[in-house]
Amino acid sequence: MPPLQRHHLLRPAFFLTFFLSAVCLSPSVLAEGRLFQLGTLSALSAGVYQGTLPMSGLRLPHAYGLGTFDRLDGEMIVVDGAFYRVSVEGQVTRPQDDALVPFACVGSLDRPDFAKKTGQLKSKADFDRYVLSKTRKPNYPLLIVFQGRFSSVRTRSVPPQKKPIPLAEVVARQQKTFDLGAQEGTLVGFYCPPYLGGLNAPGVHLHFINEPRDAGGHVLDFAIQEGTLRVQVLTDFQTILPGLKSDFDKTDLNPPQAVKKVAGE
Ligand SMILES: [Zn+2]
Repeated sequence: MPPLQRHHLLRPAFFLTFFLSAVCLSPSVLAEGRLFQLGTLSALSAGVYQGTLPMSGLRLPHAYGLGTFDRLDGEMIVVDGAFYRVSVEGQVTRPQDDALVPFACVGSLDRPDFAKKTGQLKSKADFDRYVLSKTRKPNYPLLIVFQGRFSSVRTRSVPPQKKPIPLAEVVARQQKTFDLGAQEGTLVGFYCPPYLGGLNAPGVHLHFINEPRDAGGHVLDFAIQEGTLRVQVLTDFQTILPGLKSDFDKTDLNPPQAVKKVAGE
């Protein structure tokens, strides 16, 4: 389905679309890779955890992605269209379609630009370098999916929040980490160029779920034994913002400092 036909499936209160590829291109020219996002990372970082958009809006064919849930209640990972939630206790459940989301993003892995078997990689930092060196598309978001065997995986999740405490404070004080040991499973995530910071997380952001689908979370580190890496360049970036009168609407997400920085003053 061309991306423009997908819009009628969604009923956002406020809709903002970024086409990194030109919208005047005919559907046959539009690239396949699309990043579809609810909310923004800068709002989440500021403590806007109110879920306002249903998870069902992310149901794309062959969707892979990540995010979180209303009140920051757990980590989301999406593997081939299947949605999972990893709670702060480390339990994995399948959320309902009407689960509300403050921030999440998915990409369709329909035509990977890069697919390759890989051997040992000792850390997430090594993995990030490897992915970027192979794809060499630093100006585009990348969807990254790695399925294989790990000698260790370290993840985290966070508890639901009652107050708009900044995300960095929640992570510093309340995150629970899980040393999962040797696992078979899947990493799903995105590389986002720094110029997209604010909308999404600059750099490589990964979530993990194991093969039995009973452990996972936001990825802190890992060591890979072997597996298959698939990467899709995303040239079509669509974002839906939370509606009017939501916490997103009521929060100052444009501090003078940030404006100054962008303006280069
Ligand atoms: Zn995460």
